[in-house]
Amino acid sequence: MTTNRQLAFDTLAIHAGAAPAPENGARQVPIYQTTAYVFRDADHAAKLFNLQEVGYIYSRLTNPTVSALANRVCALEGGAGAICCSSGHAAQIMALFPLMAPGRNIIASTRLYGGTITQFSQTIKRFGWTAKFVDLDDLNAVKSAIDDDTRAIFCETIANPGGYITDLDAIAAIADRAGIPLIVDNTTATPYLCRPIEHGATLVVHSATKYLTGNGTVTGGVVVDSGKFNWSASDKFPSLSQPEPAYHGLVFHPTLGNMAFTFHSIAIGLRDLGMTMNPQGAHYTLMGVETLSLRMQRHVENATKVAKWLEKHPKVSAVTYAGLASSPYANRVPKITPKGAGALFTFTLKGGYDACVKLIDSLQLFSHVANLGDTRSLVIHSASTTHRQLSPEQQTKAGAAPDVVRVSIGIEDVNDIIADLEQALAKV
Ligand SMILES: *Cc1c(COP(=O)(O)O)cnc(C)c1O
Repeated sequence: MTTNRQLAFDTLAIHAGAAPAPENGARQVPIYQTTAYVFRDADHAAKLFNLQEVGYIYSRLTNPTVSALANRVCALEGGAGAICCSSGHAAQIMALFPLMAPGRNIIASTRLYGGTITQFSQTIKRFGWTAKFVDLDDLNAVKSAIDDDTRAIFCETIANPGGYITDLDAIAAIADRAGIPLIVDNTTATPYLCRPIEHGATLVVHSATKYLTGNGTVTGGVVVDSGKFNWSASDKFPSLSQPEPAYHGLVFHPTLGNMAFTFHSIAIGLRDLGMTMNPQGAHYTLMGVETLSLRMQRHVENATKVAKWLEKHPKVSAVTYAGLASSPYANRVPKITPKGAGALFTFTLKGGYDACVKLIDSLQLFSHVANLGDTRSLVIHSASTTHRQLSPEQQTKAGAAPDVVRVSIGIEDVNDIIADLEQALAKV
């Protein structure tokens, strides 16, 4: 694609990161189902391993299909570099890996995907890392939670299970003053609704499993680096700013400039942790990203209509969609997600836990699954499933109390979606 124009989002979603294959003109990105790549000669191989020349060595590190996806998501997020990972959870570990060491901590929002709360409150302890969970609406609490060992703040743009929008600019300002990066999980907003880097985020992580692929076929993740953080401004990030023993003493920053984080993530993170995306998965996600804008428009349109309908239903006591005027977070929509508040939200049934279970068992069009961001409308009772491992207090803090049902509104005809909810609510 040869053009000097600054291409718009919808065009980048289709073209960024991919040109016709030079060997045969293949228009779609081929699935490069190969493990290794032939070196031109011994000198070429040596230069690749020295990071003096960029190229393909082995698919645990990089692969042309996977790179096309990384570059496309990077363009959509307005980043400097990106890597793809085997899942969203892998992307989170990969984002933290270059920043952390035993004894270091992160500040994490109390409102996160249930699996992330478990990953941060339990599993990362095995690496000697810890997370301090803080209500990000309490800016003073965020500030006072940061200590000398804090290496990042982590939040979601539109927090799962829905209805909450983070004031990214306010949190980024605090991270900035503390000299640490803000990491934003942008899974539920997608870059169509919000580009966190424009709000001060250093790193953006995605579960590509959700809206980026969009049809429930792939498990994948992406980490995008803004390229804007000065890793050498303090001694907090020695893996990036000092000789890295895991890569024959290379100083990644400032040697590799705004690609320091990305190269570190490939050369050490993917090399040694091996959380690599496979080329077939990358291909499906590339197909999905092509229609991201169209799908997100319809997701938002349908979610808004369904939320408004539910809000008036006599058996429903609350709907937590930030796109509703009644939401305490409605005022953040124009600033953070100006094209809409996403399609993931929860509602509360007056009948409590039993009513939720009855509703879920009565829905016919909705699929009862532990997933979101599919073309299909999905429903789940978080308290008995995704947030089951949390204490009742954590469940309530995360917006997943026992009387709450979470929906991910699909792109079917909205009248069919509402009719399904209507018949199921009638049985409650
Ligand atoms: C699903 C999800 C994840 C985890 O992604 P996987 O691809 O399932 O590993 C992380 N964050 C959010 C917001 C999610 O919805």
